[in-house]
Amino acid sequence: MKVRFYFALWASKCTKFFLRLFKKSASHFPGVVALKICPDFLKNVKKANLVIAVTGTNGKTTTTNLIADFFEDNGLSVATNRLGANIDTGVATTLSSSVNIFNKTKKEVVVLELDERFSRYLLKAVRPDYVIVTNLFRDSLKRNAHPEYIFNILKENIPSSTKCILNANDLCSSRLGDTFSSVYFGMAKLKEDKEKKESLVMDYSTCPKCDTPLTFDSLKYHHIGICHCENCGFESKKADCVLKEIQENQIVVDIKGKEYTFPKISSVLFHLYNELAAITLFHELQFPYEKICEILKKHEVTDTRLKEEEKKGVKIVQMMAKGQSAISCTRTLDCVANNEEEKAIILLLDDYYDRQNSSEFIGWIYDVDFEYLKSPSVKQVFVGGPRCLDYKVRLLMAGIEREKTSFSKDELEIVKKIDFQKVKNIYILYDTSTYDLSCQVKKELLLKIEKNVEMSSNIL
Ligand SMILES: [Zn+2]
Repeated sequence: MKVRFYFALWASKCTKFFLRLFKKSASHFPGVVALKICPDFLKNVKKANLVIAVTGTNGKTTTTNLIADFFEDNGLSVATNRLGANIDTGVATTLSSSVNIFNKTKKEVVVLELDERFSRYLLKAVRPDYVIVTNLFRDSLKRNAHPEYIFNILKENIPSSTKCILNANDLCSSRLGDTFSSVYFGMAKLKEDKEKKESLVMDYSTCPKCDTPLTFDSLKYHHIGICHCENCGFESKKADCVLKEIQENQIVVDIKGKEYTFPKISSVLFHLYNELAAITLFHELQFPYEKICEILKKHEVTDTRLKEEEKKGVKIVQMMAKGQSAISCTRTLDCVANNEEEKAIILLLDDYYDRQNSSEFIGWIYDVDFEYLKSPSVKQVFVGGPRCLDYKVRLLMAGIEREKTSFSKDELEIVKKIDFQKVKNIYILYDTSTYDLSCQVKKELLLKIEKNVEMSSNIL
């Protein structure tokens, strides 16, 4: 077995070396090689002294990157799958690079993003010291079934020696605390809370013990909030690390009865949950408060999935809005539609291009709150892709005015329809499989802006 493991380790390292040499992506394939030769590779590879795992439906990448950056800024050597290579092969690649050819660990800390579904193969082999579960929502029906299914995978596979860091405001994942040693992060009732349920999707609306409708004392988005059951006394977990107030540049957090202020890394609520998860971990690891503040100050969330460019007074923003993941897509729509600037939104969420690996189940769009696009600040909505007429039905059902929508099977046709006199802000929302397409659309838009300016200067 040992010979096989070492052969796998060396083959994986060689593969990585050659891929790098030829400037190819080396985030998965070295792990494919390692696991092919030695299926027990993950179990046998030597782990660093501190192993942190981050899993959950949303916020994994942001939280993982924040934590890895924090350790690096503290002068520690870190191995991490920063690029979101979060299934077995990506994790094997990261762990392979965290040891030398004799399987001696070269890194002080390993920070791993783990796909929540794949965690059944990963958690027992990796045996993290801490696992952060950001939240559990419904996701792709085909891949993830429903949140309880993922909850059970985690419950059955988190090692008993692992300490969990859980979101007290998430009724699903927080219940892992009934089984494992856990600390909780969460938010108190805030003035930013929703008055009433406004999302189509509410994964938990009845008591998990007696099925009576739950009473929400605080509701942030979807089922995230603080609730209790009038019938049996069931209530949300109490958080150890509680955000009490959101100020202009900082957040006020109560940690085990003591109040602290931390720099605010984002004005988006769900990113603040990621920050709270990280603060809870740093506090658990007993990093001094001043050090946590000093490093967080440098880490405003610059979302890698958001690109912004301005040309001749027109702003174009490319933003990831994961297709087939209704909650993630809804959060992006909420964020874009509810800022005050007048804008056009281009939706390139068609999973047609993913058809080899996808069920092409279009039903997920009926779980997305396209209703947010009714906001008066949204002046035009364009949908591109072979399935754009499915979106047309959905948008009309959401009550979006017919006059402000436009649909085109050829995505590049959209560019011709945009009127720069009406809008100076254009948001392109893309899926993982349509990023390149969104870049093409953006390129065409920039060309059109250039031409428009030339034409108007010629007229003058
Ligand atoms: Zn109850």
